[in-house]
Amino acid sequence: MSEAESQPAGPYDPSRFAGPSRREKRDIPDGLWMRCPGCGGMVYRKVVAENQEVCVECGYHFRVSANARIKQLIDPDSFEELFANIAPADPLKFAWAGKTMADRIVAEQDRTGNVEAARTGIAYIKGRRTALGVMDGDWLMGSLGSVVGEKITLLIERATEEKLPLIIVCMSGGARMHEGALSLMQMAKTSASLGRFGGAGGLFISVLADPTTGGTTASFAMLGDTIIAEPGALIGFAGRRVIANTIKSELPEGFQRAEFLLEHGFIDRIVHRHELRSELARLIDYCGQ
Ligand SMILES: [Zn+2]
Repeated sequence: MSEAESQPAGPYDPSRFAGPSRREKRDIPDGLWMRCPGCGGMVYRKVVAENQEVCVECGYHFRVSANARIKQLIDPDSFEELFANIAPADPLKFAWAGKTMADRIVAEQDRTGNVEAARTGIAYIKGRRTALGVMDGDWLMGSLGSVVGEKITLLIERATEEKLPLIIVCMSGGARMHEGALSLMQMAKTSASLGRFGGAGGLFISVLADPTTGGTTASFAMLGDTIIAEPGALIGFAGRRVIANTIKSELPEGFQRAEFLLEHGFIDRIVHRHELRSELARLIDYCGQ
């Protein structure tokens, strides 16, 4: 991982989330090959895609879209999408760098095919009925805005009513600055809802994918009864540079990576993407849901 990748969420810059593989095209035809940040080798994009976006040489976990993630985790065609019609607004009439938020929303929807930065629904995972939320890190950095917060909260409430295990795959640059305090309110709302879910005996498994940062980390992402991370995932609140500048000292090797967090007790386990579906099913059974 390069230094640039571990920076805090800032103004939207697509190159930050397109992944280093797309930056180093050189003379290679676009779309066929990409460079693996893990081993530095050139890997065939199609082969990596067929391997659940994991490098076949070194096991590096590339970022996965929400749509691909859902397919990877669930029993085929078992996703019953909920709250899909909740569309984003632009409450602050936000504009920056010559663009309006309204235009950006349309562009993100066209590019990703998703209405907002999270998809929620009921699905089966190895035959286990589950409430599943998946954040789309590609949709305005997977930012936690009013719609994402509302969809996650409604999903938690549905899981509470139906006594379903709840799984949320987090992938987020943090609270959505374009919605100001309305985004920050989502942290309290989702957390309070999870409190009621936990009080009713619900099981919440939080899966942290690269990257999980900012207000998402500071709310539901870290409230799992079990917290799983993918290998190498960047997980933190503030960015590395902000922290280093604030405390004016060097940060340790591997700071804010999944392995570092596991070592320091912030997460429960690191699970390879190939094992994730089985591990989720196993945890649901183990916790008696
Ligand atoms: Zn590799």
